[in-house]
Amino acid sequence: MSKEIKEVRKPSNFIEEIIEEDLKSGKFDRVATRFPPEPNGYLHIGHAKAIYINFTLAKKYGGTCNLRFDDTNPSTESEEYVRAIKEDIRWLGFDWEGREYYASDYFDQLYEWAVDLIKKGLAYVDSLSEEEMREYRGNYYRKGVPSPYRERSVEENLALFERMRAGEFEEGSHVLRAKISLDSQNMNLRDPVMYRIRHRPHHRTGNKWCIYPTYDWAHGQSDSIEGITHSLCTLEFENHRPLYDWFLEKLGIHHPRQIEFARLNLTYTVLSKRRLVELVEKGIVNGWDDPRMPTLAGLRRRGFPPEAILNFCEKIGVAKVNSVVDIGLLEHCVREVLNATAPRVMGVLKPLKLVITNYPDDRLEELDCPYNSEDASWGSRKVPFSKVLYVERDDFREVPPKGWFRLYPGSEVRLRYAYVIRCDDFVKDPNTGEVVELRCSYYEGSRGGKAPEGKKIKGTIHWVSKEHACPAEIRLYDRLFVKENPLECEEGKTWLDYVNPQSLVVVNGFVEPSLKSAEPGSRWQFERLGYFCVDSKDSSKERLVFNRIVSLKDTWAKLEKKMQEGGS
Ligand code: ATP
Ligand code: MG
Repeated sequence: MSKEIKEVRKPSNFIEEIIEEDLKSGKFDRVATRFPPEPNGYLHIGHAKAIYINFTLAKKYGGTCNLRFDDTNPSTESEEYVRAIKEDIRWLGFDWEGREYYASDYFDQLYEWAVDLIKKGLAYVDSLSEEEMREYRGNYYRKGVPSPYRERSVEENLALFERMRAGEFEEGSHVLRAKISLDSQNMNLRDPVMYRIRHRPHHRTGNKWCIYPTYDWAHGQSDSIEGITHSLCTLEFENHRPLYDWFLEKLGIHHPRQIEFARLNLTYTVLSKRRLVELVEKGIVNGWDDPRMPTLAGLRRRGFPPEAILNFCEKIGVAKVNSVVDIGLLEHCVREVLNATAPRVMGVLKPLKLVITNYPDDRLEELDCPYNSEDASWGSRKVPFSKVLYVERDDFREVPPKGWFRLYPGSEVRLRYAYVIRCDDFVKDPNTGEVVELRCSYYEGSRGGKAPEGKKIKGTIHWVSKEHACPAEIRLYDRLFVKENPLECEEGKTWLDYVNPQSLVVVNGFVEPSLKSAEPGSRWQFERLGYFCVDSKDSSKERLVFNRIVSLKDTWAKLEKKMQEGGS
């Protein structure tokens, strides 16, 4: 078989298989998908998966993907969320090409269709209280009992529904229900509610309506109106499909095919707007875009590149069974992109003063340091070197443990891109006992890190020149929860008890002067420390603020290597 033939397009997941079937059988002659967020919170990484699937499928089959806001609940929705959702989708690099729709634009049509169903004897106004309704509906083990209002005449229903719309009734006094079943094992089919009275203004329709469609009544019909062919949603909607099918059949309108896929779950985090709202409202994080949040706004501010998120979505694939993905995989995708794109520079998180006693007091060298020592095409910048430096406090030990190649009394190390030095002595604060200064001497001939003759220098450490370095606030972010699944609580605890108290540690460090004018949002590798991003909100010329994106330690890559070794 020739290579060409082998490379003929193949469906790469079960959704594509279904789409190709539908195109082949003629069920549909095009592919139209949509991403349908409810504007009641910011998007999170789980939504990125849904966005990725819908937009890339449409692209693959030369179709379209709409953005539709399923804005049926005026109590929890807002313009702020609409704006944020659009910004996040654009940031991921997707374009709905002006096809921006709102379920609220279909309220008139939905109302008419509800009237149709009433006329067909397929919907009725119920006047039970919410509690009574629950009782009458029964449950999985107990059949439902008909509401005393179930057999109202068509005329009576039409009149009542009209009066509901006109605002004559209080909230909770009446609802419109579909007349489907009292004993279905699928509770969604037990005469589900289609309309509720809510005397609340809507962020788009203002005071025009005081009855609002339920999500279940609006969703399928909205897809139909837009001519969606493949209505992709997460598994929890599988049980709603028979209901959506019922509505579409009874109305006799365009019938999209609904396909369910598994939600994304990630370890060490929560992915549900309800919980994310709680974190924000309780002040456990600093807003929706707190860099610890799994929201796209948070990940963006943290410094995650959008390509990394797309690669992650590609890697996790599409499955029909729910599972939990290791957050280490997401971090691995971030490191992969940053390793290939982030210039290497030097910064010191916890500064310790280091004096090179035999270096001339007034000497200043401008060392040419490459942005990537493995690839000269990245270019270089000048880094000042002088007698007094800051090095990382963690790189010094008064008493070195075994195998310690960094600083300790008597040790010799390489200063990255500069000289080899010897640690001769250290100074302690007499009051606290804390080491406050290292006294070192340098080998003049070791410029560029050349080892002095006959010596082997194992350790290399990073540094900045004290006089020239820029002070910087550095925010060390870590996972938001200490438990892999924070929702699996021990007795007497709640998921909020597992918030990681170390998820944000702020240190006052120093960075090399070339970073003074670093662009907000720009990403850098601080040598030996990790990847950092200039905070787009709080950083300014007067006050540099960096967020740690991820450390350099790639637990996922290690795990993968181990599995490969174990498997071969
Ligand atoms: P949440 O449970 O976080 O509140 P939601 O499903 O209520 O999310 P919507 O705004 O209704 O949020 O979601 C828009 C789309 O994104 C839906 O099609 C939904 O199925 C999908 N989606 C939501 N969460 C995830 C997830 N964790 N993984 C994959 N897709 C998701
Ligand atoms: Mg939802």
